[in-house]
Amino acid sequence: MNQIPVVAYFSMEIGLEPGIPTYSGGLGMLAGDTIRAAADKDLPMVAISLLHRRGYFRQRLNDLGWQTEEPVDWPIEDYLELMPETVTVTIESRPVIVHAWRYQVQGLARRIPVYLLDTDFAPNSAYDRTLTHYLYGGDSHYRLCQEVILGIGGARMLRKLGVAAFRFHMNEGHASLLVLELITRTAEENQHESPSVDDIESVRQSCVFTTHTPVAAGHDRFPINLVYQVIGTDRVLCDREKELCFSGEFNLTYLALDNSHYINGVAKKHKQTAEHLYARYRIDSITNGVHLGTWTSPHLQKLFDKTIPGWRSDNSSLRAALAISLPDIWQAHLAAKRDLIEYVNRVANAGMHFDHFTIGFARRATLYKRPALLFTDAQRLIDIGERVGKIQIVLGGKAHPHDMQGKELIQQLFQIKKNLRDKIKIVYLEEYDMAQAKLLTSGSDLWLNTPQPPLEASGTSGMKAAVNGVPSFSVLDGWWIEGCIEGVTGWAIGGKTHEDTSPVIGQNDAEFLYQKLETTILPLYYQQNERYVDVMRHAIALNASYFNTERMLEQYVTRAYYK
Ligand SMILES: *Cc1c(COP(=O)(O)O)cnc(C)c1O
Repeated sequence: MNQIPVVAYFSMEIGLEPGIPTYSGGLGMLAGDTIRAAADKDLPMVAISLLHRRGYFRQRLNDLGWQTEEPVDWPIEDYLELMPETVTVTIESRPVIVHAWRYQVQGLARRIPVYLLDTDFAPNSAYDRTLTHYLYGGDSHYRLCQEVILGIGGARMLRKLGVAAFRFHMNEGHASLLVLELITRTAEENQHESPSVDDIESVRQSCVFTTHTPVAAGHDRFPINLVYQVIGTDRVLCDREKELCFSGEFNLTYLALDNSHYINGVAKKHKQTAEHLYARYRIDSITNGVHLGTWTSPHLQKLFDKTIPGWRSDNSSLRAALAISLPDIWQAHLAAKRDLIEYVNRVANAGMHFDHFTIGFARRATLYKRPALLFTDAQRLIDIGERVGKIQIVLGGKAHPHDMQGKELIQQLFQIKKNLRDKIKIVYLEEYDMAQAKLLTSGSDLWLNTPQPPLEASGTSGMKAAVNGVPSFSVLDGWWIEGCIEGVTGWAIGGKTHEDTSPVIGQNDAEFLYQKLETTILPLYYQQNERYVDVMRHAIALNASYFNTERMLEQYVTRAYYK
């Protein structure tokens, strides 16, 4: 059995490959990219998540852009191997049997197992069998039960599998019930009737927590009575109820914050935002990254393999992209762009052109990301396109099934698309997923991001664009504050300091956006294309060489795992 001390990485969602629908967005992609980087770096790690038998959901959009959701039916056995081990968790005094499926992530240096937990087996009750069906589905009772399976079931499963975990990394607060399990276990091992200060401290030394969002919906809170109903009168929880509950609610983020020796925010700015939110805790900042081998288009991969051999295991060597000729970068980009345009023309009959300036915007459809900002003054956008050079726009993204505002945003975009039908080509792709994300971030000419500061904790899609030589044009929030060198790696929308949430700010951002698109970005693309390609080259050399999961993981290793 595997007895090397390993880092156990817990995440409610994880993006493994396009056919496995166990993710909803950036959080899951980061989890997958982290594991892929660990497999490249020979870091002993295992990951734990839930099976999500019916996936997040399959997105259907009708002619008006109204989203409905369908369960995903995916061939689990084609990807995963069922482990013989099982564990039991208690939910509302019922024993629930938990199974695990193993997925293997093969990297450059080792294979890392990912265990996806599954309760859909006899003799579990009909309800309990649904608990690992839907990612972020159901009500808060369902969610809490899932978190028992992830945190407590996950910790038990690792032990059953003989995994000697010395660090437990919680990717967001969803897994933080594992802390209760670890404290109980430690007290038992030390034969303490109730956990001592030392027991709690030793668990704290083994836990690492990454917080990912200042948005309230990203933090799970449950009425304390519901918690006791679901998990029972847990000893550890009763002892610490005062510290962990706020106005009658049990907050899983606080459970993680309170019991981790290392807490991370996902960009420098997010560290500051998080320290405002959680004033009692010291929070570090390791800025997110992406797994370059996963997100680079085959065309750029070929170019890098030829010009910078070794870039896959030494991402920082992409600095040398500055020595790649501009025509080589442009040709590789055009090939990626052709893939995208052929795709949107095939699946959405979009009628797009290979030589028109293509703006990409796709991510979870939710209010703070402001996907309609680009269309604040549609006439202005049309005028710019006619005066300076043709523009076409590729959009995509799913709204959470309960996020009505997010769903309305998609409808609004459909309406705009219809209104601008003969003036600007716009396509909204259905079912935005990992495969589309790769096509869009590599095949667009410009990657747009317009979040409402400070709500974009990091953002990672712009990093995927960077490694493909696609410059970002983004509001200064999250990673872009660090990644933007104006006119060198891409462009900023507005200045650094605005955090106002009044509608006027949106107006300002739209004005900044149009100004720069018209006077700087489009003229460069159409009239001084070599200079545009030089920005593309700097996006690779300066940003992809740094904003990758290899660098990110090394920082976690020295600051969090081996400390
Ligand atoms: C990378 C990725 C995201 C994250 O995009 P952001 O712009 O960083 O929010 C979301 N969904 C999918 C499918 C992705 O691949």
